[in-house]
Amino acid sequence: MYIAIEGIDTAGKSTQIEALKKHFPDAVITKEPGGTTIGQEIRKLVLSAKTQSKRAEFLLFLADRAEHIKEVIEPNLHKMIISDRSAVSGVAYALTQGNISKKDLISLNDFATKKIYPQTIYLLRLTKQELEHRLSQKELDGIELRGSEYLLEIQESIKEASLLLGVPLIEIDATKNRDEITKEILNNIKNETML
Ligand code: C5P
Repeated sequence: MYIAIEGIDTAGKSTQIEALKKHFPDAVITKEPGGTTIGQEIRKLVLSAKTQSKRAEFLLFLADRAEHIKEVIEPNLHKMIISDRSAVSGVAYALTQGNISKKDLISLNDFATKKIYPQTIYLLRLTKQELEHRLSQKELDGIELRGSEYLLEIQESIKEASLLLGVPLIEIDATKNRDEITKEILNNIKNETML
């Protein structure tokens, strides 16, 4: 079973993945970008050097994804795989840039992933108010993040991306306390495994 946790920065993806790890000690815990040795290099490159071409940036994320699917996801499909982000993030970010057609986004991702997509993604969803509060806290810590308008646009785009790729999405209210969120994800996973 391959699932991914999706959400904008500050939504609490890493916290939930840490919590899920305790419930699934044998699960493969992974992430993209940066879930493989090559992927870590690509992640550094893409997050540090600002490419002049948005297409080049998109292709770097896609290269990371192809490597991640081949090295981590495909060989472990018989196990529980929990990934921090997936192709859905890649498509969500690209949709907001508007320079690649939806048809191309689907075919390029199908190529990179060999059509291996998460069985379900869990979108940790924030309200504008909670997002702005969390961003101000991060700024106090000296971490500068992208603005709330942009992040909320990405949050909406994640839903569109999941529809485009045909990946079922379960929305989780990420403003709840962390234990409640974990419980909700676990209940959904339980329901899915009983199907
Ligand atoms: O969540 P994580 O720390 O792995 O993401 C690193 C950064 O890369 C985030 O700030 C996110 O906005 C960005 N990102 C992106 N395109 C993707 C995936 C992540 O721009 N496809």
